[in-house]
Amino acid sequence: MSDLKERTKEIQAGPKGRHRTVQVTVGNVKVGGGAPIVVQSMTNTDTADIEGTVTQVAALARAGSEMVRITVDRDEAAAAVPHIREKLDKLGIDVPLIGDFHYIGHKLLADHPACAAALSKYRINPGNVGFKNKRDTQFTDIVEMALKHGKTIRIGANWGSLDQELLTKLMEENAKSPDPIDARAVTREAMVQSALLSAARAEEIGLPKNRMILSAKVSNVQDLIAVYRELAARSDYAIHLGLTEAGMGSKGIVASSAALGILLQDGIGDTIRVSLTPEPGGDRTVEVKVGQEILQTMGFRTFVPLVAACPGCGRTTSTVFQELARDIQSFIRDEMPSWKTRYPGVEQLNVAVMGCIVNGPGESKHADIGISLPGTGETPAAPVFVDGQKFRTLRGPTIATDFKALVIDYIEQRYGSAGAKAPAVTAAE
Ligand code: SF4
Repeated sequence: MSDLKERTKEIQAGPKGRHRTVQVTVGNVKVGGGAPIVVQSMTNTDTADIEGTVTQVAALARAGSEMVRITVDRDEAAAAVPHIREKLDKLGIDVPLIGDFHYIGHKLLADHPACAAALSKYRINPGNVGFKNKRDTQFTDIVEMALKHGKTIRIGANWGSLDQELLTKLMEENAKSPDPIDARAVTREAMVQSALLSAARAEEIGLPKNRMILSAKVSNVQDLIAVYRELAARSDYAIHLGLTEAGMGSKGIVASSAALGILLQDGIGDTIRVSLTPEPGGDRTVEVKVGQEILQTMGFRTFVPLVAACPGCGRTTSTVFQELARDIQSFIRDEMPSWKTRYPGVEQLNVAVMGCIVNGPGESKHADIGISLPGTGETPAAPVFVDGQKFRTLRGPTIATDFKALVIDYIEQRYGSAGAKAPAVTAAE
């Protein structure tokens, strides 16, 4: 019995406390130091294409991305950055822009001061910031540029472009060791050291901890978990968390959710990015939605009302149930930008769309508003539950539209200025 009590306590305790990190400010966004975990994303437009990039940044920001990274790979891209910033500001979109630099970041930032000023953060990769004797001077140039412009830097090590000199050194040391570890473990160690040594060097140059964010991304879930646990154990820098090259479709979503879920539960991660490969011509904002859903389903933040839907089974032979679940979900997503201002707190709403009588009434009662559709062979009636009580039974071909109208009424009465926390509906069946 006492075992059971202990186990229950553990479950009720939820995630471990957040790993303590130093708080960093990126534009108007706070990262780390206990601030809410920030969702960020990255464009896949050519940054030199000002209109295309503005459109995509705006879409990502409207979908909920709180910071957006853009590639700055050449002069044309760097020259476009201040114009992109200006156009976004005119649209009222103040999302901080992060410049992603590789190889020639030091030169681009020096040659394009307006770009350096327009960005809120510079992302550099310690594996390609410069090679051999140029490494230190180029790294120093970038850090000094951040100091001059009052910007933050992300030191982003990556498995695919790991600092080869450091890796070779650690491999050689390991080979000489009387008790060598396996090569994969050495590579993980090189990832951690690459990020930490670069951060220490940036501090020596004068960049304070509250102007640095660290990441060490790999594409394998177990490696990622090991690397980030080590990174967190050895430092208190703010941490950007993400599985690199997560992949396409469900594979990318599942791999990112598994990796990020475990680390977030450990209290590790101050900002996240879900690196999904979109379908050709696909919607880039999916990575933002997935990031939000990871945080919301784990209980770290609330962004949009949640729709609980059963998976359906042999008891649901019509498509009414799937269509209604999909309609309600996309209806809520589409309306959220305007609801956020009109209905404060609406993101806490829980809606249930259930396929039959087996779990339908029970699950619907747990939601703020829920519907239990008739399964095959059941009476063609759909009871609606509001705040745990049966409220009305919908019938006929307009069940979907009628339920949507009830959801809107509920939101208006509960979250609108008139209703403010009054009993959500008044006319029970
Ligand atoms: S609630 Fe009904 S339809 Fe949905 S999965 Fe359960 S048994 Fe199947």
